Amino acid sequence: MRIDVVTIFPDYLAALDLSLVGKARTAGIVDVRVHDLRDWTTDRHRTVDDTPFGGGAGMVMRPDVWGRAIADVARPEPSGEPDGAGVPGARAHLVVPTPSGRSFTQRTAEALAGEDHLVFACGRYEGIDARVAEHHRAAGGTVSELSIGDYVLNGGEVATLVMIEAVARLLPGVVGNPESLVEESHGAAGLLEYPVYTKPPAWEGLEVPEVLLSGHHARIHRWRRDEALRRTAARRPDMVRALDLAALDRRDLEVLAESGWTPRDGRLDREG
Ligand code: SAM
Repeated sequence: MRIDVVTIFPDYLAALDLSLVGKARTAGIVDVRVHDLRDWTTDRHRTVDDTPFGGGAGMVMRPDVWGRAIADVARPEPSGEPDGAGVPGARAHLVVPTPSGRSFTQRTAEALAGEDHLVFACGRYEGIDARVAEHHRAAGGTVSELSIGDYVLNGGEVATLVMIEAVARLLPGVVGNPESLVEESHGAAGLLEYPVYTKPPAWEGLEVPEVLLSGHHARIHRWRRDEALRRTAARRPDMVRALDLAALDRRDLEVLAESGWTPRDGRLDREG
C-alpha cells in the first residue's frame, strides 16, 4: 500500500517512523510519503489560506494550492497501471480528516486497508475549501471525509496518525501474530475485549481470576466471553443494541440479562 500525507507540518508525522508502522515502512509493506503543502504554493510568502467567502472568523485553505498538491501526489507511479478513470490520480482514495465527516470506525479502517493508494489531506484553520473534495470526486476519485470523534482538534495531522495506525496494523505482516487481531474490541463479535492479565498472579493484594490459571481452555473462553459481554453492557449500550440476536447463545443472553438487557422486537433492549 502507498500512503501520501500532505500537511503544513510534516514534522508532526515523524511518529510514523516508530513502532509497528515504522517497521512496516522499513519492511516495504507500506510506502508512506509525507509532503509539505507549501511546496505547491507559488507566492513569495508560501500562502496556503485566505479569508472565508461569506465572512466570519478564521481562514480557509485555498483550493488551488491543494488541487496542485493532490494532483501531484495522487498520480500513479510511471511504472504503474494506467489510471482507470482517465484522470491522473483519480484512483487514489482521498481521505480528508474533518470533525464534520462520517465517523471513522474499525469498519472504515478495514475498508481503507483494502485500498492500493491513500492520500491524506491534513486541514488547518477552518478547514479546506469544499471544492477540493468535490473536484476529486468529479474526476472519478473516491473521497472519504472522516471524523475521529466528536471533538475539534487544531489540525488533521493527529487524526491522520490515528487513521494510518488503525489501517496499517490490518495489513498482512504488520502485527507479528495475526491472531491478536481476531478477538479485539470492535471486531466481528461486536463486543469490547475482555480484561487481560499477566504475571505476577498476585499484585498489590489483587489476584488474577482463578479460571485464567486453570489451563482449562473451554472455561477460559467462556469466562472471557462473559466478561466481554458485561464490559460492553456497562460501557457501550450502542454496541449492545447493535448485536445480532442470532449470534448469541443462551449463556450470552443470561449474562446480558444480569446487566438488564433482554430481547425485545428482534433486538436487545434495556429494562425499565
Ligand atoms: N471549522 C471546522 C469545523 O467546525 O468543522 C473545524 C476545523 S479544525 C479547527 C481544523 C482541522 O483539524 C480540520 O480541517 C481537520 O483537518 C482537523 N480536525 C479537527 N477535528 C477533527 C476530528 N474530530 N476528526 C478529524 N479531523 C479533525
